[in-house]
Amino acid sequence: MLEKPLGLFGGTFDPVHCGHLRLAEEAADALGLARVRWIPAGRPALRTLPPQASAQQRLAMVQLAVAGNRRFEIDAAEVESDQPSFTVPTLERLRQPGICGPDRSLVLLTGADAFAGMAGWHRWQMLFDLAHVAVACRPGYSIQADDLPPELAAQYRQRFCDDPAALVGAPAGYIVPFAMTPLGISATRLRELLSNGSSPRYLLPDSVLDYIHHHSLYQEL
Ligand code: ATP
Repeated sequence: MLEKPLGLFGGTFDPVHCGHLRLAEEAADALGLARVRWIPAGRPALRTLPPQASAQQRLAMVQLAVAGNRRFEIDAAEVESDQPSFTVPTLERLRQPGICGPDRSLVLLTGADAFAGMAGWHRWQMLFDLAHVAVACRPGYSIQADDLPPELAAQYRQRFCDDPAALVGAPAGYIVPFAMTPLGISATRLRELLSNGSSPRYLLPDSVLDYIHHHSLYQEL
């Protein structure tokens, strides 16, 4: 029997929140994933401002957030690297023999906003040779081809697949949208709440909020 796909979930996670957790959890169910590997970015290459928390702090918060979920695992390679984090080189690393190898079905999980920006990623067209892409709905962002940049829309039309069962039969190449519980939570909003002294409680795990308070993070915007 074919091995179930492995989900890959990259992000800045500054900080990790319940939107991220529900995306990963619902993707695992909706797409029949064996596990979801969380890959915090060390030095996110595409963000205009650097993250507020250090790479090690963001990794620590993800570790706290996923603790106890047996379907979740963490890949700290980007955090431990001194190079900027790019998705395609990360996927190439995972494709090496002894890690995931060439044949394992890999599914890159993204929110609709991250997907819409994909055509700006370093060597982005290579992505589809390395992994499938699953796109979660996110409040306020469309996944209609007509709303995407033309080059990405062309890939979307060509690679669109609405049958998650197909993911197991190929290592890479499909784009699969999936529905998730709409959660209008963003790390930006959490940083705003924290910096003005408002409570972000219940938008992120208590363990992560305790860590934020303990390390006095996000006190200023
Ligand atoms: P920021 O507000 O700092 O830009 P963020 O909340 O978007 O951060 P990221 O770490 O940049 O978080 O996102 C990682 C991934 O999670 C991206 O693919 C993003 O689209 C997705 N994502 C984040 N929040 C949500 C949400 N509430 N619903 C669906 N997807 C989400």
